[in-house]
Amino acid sequence: MSKRGYVREVFTSIQGEGIHCGKRMTFVRFLGCNLSCNYCDTPETQVMEGAYVSQGKVMQNPTDIETILAHIDAAIAALTGGEPLLQVDFARHLCSRLQALDKTVYLDTNATLPDAMRAIIDKVDIVSLDFKVPTATGRPQLWAEHQACLEIASSKSVYVKLVINENVLPRELETACNIVKNVDRSIPLVIQPVFGSNHSNLLHVQQKALEHLDDVRIIPQVHKYLNLQ
Ligand code: SF4
Repeated sequence: MSKRGYVREVFTSIQGEGIHCGKRMTFVRFLGCNLSCNYCDTPETQVMEGAYVSQGKVMQNPTDIETILAHIDAAIAALTGGEPLLQVDFARHLCSRLQALDKTVYLDTNATLPDAMRAIIDKVDIVSLDFKVPTATGRPQLWAEHQACLEIASSKSVYVKLVINENVLPRELETACNIVKNVDRSIPLVIQPVFGSNHSNLLHVQQKALEHLDDVRIIPQVHKYLNLQ
């Protein structure tokens, strides 16, 4: 099991996305991603090299787990990226140590790596799964991977996040809703408009999703409105 890994930053802030929006968390932003979404707001995570900043201090990669743990000061530790599951051995070991310290472990993932998801799920408390919408990402669809990840994550506290812009297609929305419904229609679906996009149709999108699911929420990226990290 790898005990060293590559991260971009460690910082404490509020969760700005999804159903846990507003909660204080310490974020561990992993380096590396297997996707390249058009709307990505962390393109600097794509390259797995260089130093990182942990609570304002410059640190060296690859880093060890104890160095990260020393800077986790919130009750919830959020693994984000990039894509944390690309370094699943390192992430799993970090999660084990976090749980031993009574931290709640929150995993933010692009839901494309089901084998890695299976390998880590017992060490995670909360899962935020991104379903990637091709009209927003500009990339091919990944529905099969998303379904597999949701089936694995459904044993935990889980919600699905759908980042959309004004070009979202009815069939994209329906496909995402059907995947969630086939696992459990009470799993929350968060519709998150791309930051700065001109989306006048959000209430209609929500209404269509509510034809399939019990809990559909529209939540923007709140931290950006507050100028927080
Ligand atoms: S999955 Fe996330 S980190 Fe990776 S390119 Fe897409 S938005 Fe960026």
